Amino acid sequence: MKNSSRITSSLAFKLNVAIIAISIIVLVVIGVAFSYTSRDAIDRHIKTELGYIVDTLILAVETNNNQGGMIRAVGSLAARDNIVTVRVLKSKDDLVVADSQFANVGKKSYQALSKTEQILLKEYHQLVRPEELIRIYDGFWYQMTPVNLIDPDVNRLRPYLILIVYDEGYALAQARQELLILGLIYTAGIIMMLVASYWVQNRILLNPLSQFLKTINEQRDVDDVLLLPVRSDDEIGQLARQYNEMGISKAHREKELMDARKYIDGITSRAPVLLGYADDKPNYQFVNKHFERSFNTPLKYYRNLPFFQGLDEETAAFYKMQVDKVFAGETVQFESEVPFADKVNHFVKVTYTPDFRDDNTIAGFFICIEDITETKNIETKLAKYAQDLEFQAWALEDQKEKAEQATAAKSEFLAGMSHEIRTPMNGVLGMLRLLMSTDSLTTQQQHYLNLATSSADSLLMLINDILDFSKIEAGKLDLEFLDVDISALLMEWVKSMALPAQEKGLEIILDTSGLAYHSLKIDAGRVRQILTNLVSNAVKFTAQGQVVIRVSTALTDKGLRLIGEVVDTGIGIAPDKIEHLFDSFTQVDASTTRKYGGTGLGLAISKQLCELMQGDLTVTSELEKGSCFRFEVSVKAGDSDIELPELSLASTFVLVITDNPVLSNLLGQQLEALGASIAIERQISKVFTLLRANPQAVVIVDRSLSNDGVNTLIELVKSDEVLSEIKLVALSTMNDHQDYSQAGFDALCHKPVTHLDLFETFSVLRGEKSRSLLSAQPAKPLFNPGGQTINILLVEDNRINQEVALGILENLNLQADIANDGQEAIDKLKQAGRSPYQLVLMDCQMPVMDGYQATRKIRAGEAAQQHSEIPIIAMTANAMEGDREKCLQAGMSDYLSKPIDDEQLAEKIRQWLPQLEVLESMDESQLPPDCNPEQPQAVVWDREGVLKRMGGRVKRLRLLLGLFEEETQPYIDAINEAV
Ligand code: ADP
Repeated sequence: MKNSSRITSSLAFKLNVAIIAISIIVLVVIGVAFSYTSRDAIDRHIKTELGYIVDTLILAVETNNNQGGMIRAVGSLAARDNIVTVRVLKSKDDLVVADSQFANVGKKSYQALSKTEQILLKEYHQLVRPEELIRIYDGFWYQMTPVNLIDPDVNRLRPYLILIVYDEGYALAQARQELLILGLIYTAGIIMMLVASYWVQNRILLNPLSQFLKTINEQRDVDDVLLLPVRSDDEIGQLARQYNEMGISKAHREKELMDARKYIDGITSRAPVLLGYADDKPNYQFVNKHFERSFNTPLKYYRNLPFFQGLDEETAAFYKMQVDKVFAGETVQFESEVPFADKVNHFVKVTYTPDFRDDNTIAGFFICIEDITETKNIETKLAKYAQDLEFQAWALEDQKEKAEQATAAKSEFLAGMSHEIRTPMNGVLGMLRLLMSTDSLTTQQQHYLNLATSSADSLLMLINDILDFSKIEAGKLDLEFLDVDISALLMEWVKSMALPAQEKGLEIILDTSGLAYHSLKIDAGRVRQILTNLVSNAVKFTAQGQVVIRVSTALTDKGLRLIGEVVDTGIGIAPDKIEHLFDSFTQVDASTTRKYGGTGLGLAISKQLCELMQGDLTVTSELEKGSCFRFEVSVKAGDSDIELPELSLASTFVLVITDNPVLSNLLGQQLEALGASIAIERQISKVFTLLRANPQAVVIVDRSLSNDGVNTLIELVKSDEVLSEIKLVALSTMNDHQDYSQAGFDALCHKPVTHLDLFETFSVLRGEKSRSLLSAQPAKPLFNPGGQTINILLVEDNRINQEVALGILENLNLQADIANDGQEAIDKLKQAGRSPYQLVLMDCQMPVMDGYQATRKIRAGEAAQQHSEIPIIAMTANAMEGDREKCLQAGMSDYLSKPIDDEQLAEKIRQWLPQLEVLESMDESQLPPDCNPEQPQAVVWDREGVLKRMGGRVKRLRLLLGLFEEETQPYIDAINEAV
């Protein structure tokens, strides 16, 4: 059954069944048709044969007209297989005349004929007219044919009846055989056709198809794409090709899909959020790994789990509301608290996103749950931090306020200290100066005086250094850039530095040949301070040799720079010490502090000052050989045109005699630059021939050379006619005040030689200026040629300062009334009445009423209207920035900083009291009658008391500035020593 159904469902069967069916039908039709047509043919054939037998019989009877012939003829005709019987009957009596069965001849019909023949004969006889009768019974033909034959007996024609019985069996069998053969041939053809068709089908269709089938079946178990064989270009080939293409592209798509799937799976399973999907019922359909873990429930439990299952009424209602929104097409987001499998309530952020179908209906929604517990916690913490921070900010604000107050206090302290310290210093130095101008000092007193001066100087230096340092540290040091004649500044400054060096026997040389500008915008005071620091160090640390100062300008990529170099031949600095040299309070060797003194602040301050001016301070040094300090600061070219006094030495021959090559070099350069031709000699003995050749020469003789040669030279020049024109210039140190004119010199030039010195010297040589062989005079006294009284009011609370100021004024030939504070000053001015004051010297910080307030009151007319315009010169120890402005703002006319310098004070007084004149010489006739310069007032002062107080102040200073004790102790010791 199964087999047959397999066969019937097979393609080969289906393809061939029609052919087979049609073949069978055709075979049947052919068989039927053939049997019809063959019946006819048989009938016709039989009739023809019967007719032929009749005809043959007739013919035989006619040719052989006798009985015997007829019988023979019948016999031969009946010999054929298919002829059963041939009989000839005489119609008239139905007598058998001839019969194939010879025995029947002569018999009567009823005797010879078979039953069937007799029935037929009867039928024949019943015919109206004799005619041929044919009847077929049981496969036998019975034919009765009436013929007219010659009756031999009568030899006349008589009617006869020929009866033939014919067996059609033979014909039929033959026809049947033919049909069979035909059928067989046909069947064979059909079978051959089927076989051929099957073979072709098999080859072209079935085999490839079953191959395909096999391949496709195999494909199920394999991941790779199995390709179908393409053997032809027909439909099957195309089918295979298309299948292959489809397979490949399907594989591609499958791979993509698989990849995508992998990613999606990876993402969903690894995502740190809980992901899920619910359909439109809503039932859960999917949850990711994280979801599973978080609720400790496997995915399969969630499949088709109703969304609201397990929720309490309230929660369910809430979720229902959200779900309704999603199904309305909205994306929903909300925060909630959910208990996870860990039995802890987690803060979560939930997002439901609708899943739209193509027709815009909603198939379900995606669920995303973020655990924001951590964030929430951090948020809470942050909020707390923020709160804490705010508190801290308040606290800080508070502290800042306090710090600001502290800074303000520090500034105030600095200002105060500046005042506190400078005031006694002013006193001390003033007193010392006064004391020095007394003649009646014993050697012992002189010694004390020198001691006190040096310790006061060093203390002042220390104070200045510490103040500068504190100011720099506090960022309070402001620089003041003003147009300065740099050459003049250097020339004047170097003179002030020269003395101590020269006293030590050091050569000090200033080289400004590299200065391309005369007018520069600089903070002159600070530049001076740096140079002074470096040079005083150089002098301090050099025992013999020289200190060379080179100042130049250079245009660099940082703009115009002022470069200073101080080169000494001193003790030098070890390489390992250089690194910390510029640190504050650093000295190369602590023991040098004792030997050399100093604060260790100078270089630190200088370096910081250089840095403030966008520059730097560096050092190169070699132990035992000397050091070179080099600084560089930014400057700007000044606006003013400054020219050095013009001096032309063209066609002048100058011979310089010195054994110092640096000095001779520099001097040579200076002179050559002015147009002179020069010669340099180290020894006097060698110059005579040179001088004879240049009898107009100017000879500059370094006085540091030994005296013998010099005297010989002078003698020679003075005695030799030829050499009488020669001018001799003595080159000496600043403290040399000998009268060289007596010794035969024409001029004296002080070292270090500046342009101004040369200018003066040559002016003298040319007779343009009287011989200024002496160094500068101390401040000259003033006098009052008009004779009217000059009333000066000195407002000062400090007794010592009062004395100092009075002393200076006295030296200047002036007197003053004293007011101890502002209030007293106003009272004094008010009471002046008819003899008003012409000048007020005003201290700023005083008890009762300070100088600023007093000044304001005076300007407001509160000290009598006549004094409202009176010149008020501030004398203040406040050296801080802005003090000057503060004074001027308060209405004061001018400003002097303490310690009071007598020359400065004289200058200011002259400026504000122009009626006064400078007493040029001590010509007594010029002096007013009440002035007795011979007997300056002796002042007794409490030196010990002052120094003790200074020591106390240094201690306080140390505590307030936080300095280390060991740093300040030396100064306290020094002061105590002095006491
Ligand atoms: P001080 O007040 O001690 O001179 P400075 O800061 O000016 O302070 O100098 C610090 C130290 O640097 C000095 O104590 C000294 O040891 C060293 N020093 C400075 N200048 C020179 C110099 N020209 N030669 C040798 N040593 C020097």
